[in-house]
Amino acid sequence: MPVEGIPRRLSFTKSVPSDRIITHFPQAYHADGTPHQSIGFSQQVRDACSQNKTGTVGLKICKAVLVGDVAVGKSCLVNRFCHHTFDRDYKATIGVDFEVEKFNILNVPFNLQLWDTAGQERFKCIAASYYRGADIVLVAFDLTDIDSLGHCLQWQIDACKSARDPLVFLVGTKKDLMVESTYAQVEEEALRVAKEMNAEFWATSSKNGECVKEFFFRIVSLSFEKAMKGELNTMNDKQKSIGNELIKIDEPPEDIYEKKKFKTKCCA
Ligand code: GDP
Ligand code: MG
Repeated sequence: MPVEGIPRRLSFTKSVPSDRIITHFPQAYHADGTPHQSIGFSQQVRDACSQNKTGTVGLKICKAVLVGDVAVGKSCLVNRFCHHTFDRDYKATIGVDFEVEKFNILNVPFNLQLWDTAGQERFKCIAASYYRGADIVLVAFDLTDIDSLGHCLQWQIDACKSARDPLVFLVGTKKDLMVESTYAQVEEEALRVAKEMNAEFWATSSKNGECVKEFFFRIVSLSFEKAMKGELNTMNDKQKSIGNELIKIDEPPEDIYEKKKFKTKCCA
């Protein structure tokens, strides 16, 4: 397996586009709109990456699901980030679409699988099966439509049912349509909802690209840090159990001692 793994990893690293290389921890959009207080990759994670002790992290795919009301701009957000395009004509997503984006974070390959779901009621039962095992839940709302913000908590509850303790983000779209004063009011309400959801808040525009790349770099970096910490804990636990095994072997073998005593008795 390690022999097979090395060339695969090298060719993978080469195929990561230069604009998907992350060397610095991206910051939150709003200091009051995040439950994540760290401002950089932890020393423990940096050390592991520089010493190439990253275990299985580079081979894993991190799954993100994007949910929210119909027409809030979910597909446009994905298209802006993955294909650098924006389409003004609305094309409803049927069921679910997905994209895979390759990153290189602190010299380690990291894959993000992005599931773009349809917000229509009739697809809700199908969508539930796509939420399974999600590491990240992205709940989108339209900054110009306050009702769509009101539905975000329910979207989070639905998506998190079959996810595994995911990182949650609340992302407002269509910022280009907002005037500053109305934006300030919506942002205040969005920050309140984000707190209730224990989510990190972002505001983006897929039309002009504002904060789209920063948003995806942030989610993928937080997810990488979390995956690395999990991997390091697993590696530590394995090391500890190997250590315990060695101690057991080195311990005086009591049962053998007992047998010896018995043998001595027998031969005497
Ligand atoms: P979805 O149903 O949530 O996937 O919504 P879409 O991504 O298909 O977008 C719905 C509509 O909103 C489309 O007509 C888009 O052109 C428009 N739209 C999406 N994002 C933006 C944005 O950032 N700015 C503006 N002005 N319009 C947007
Ligand atoms: Mg769509």
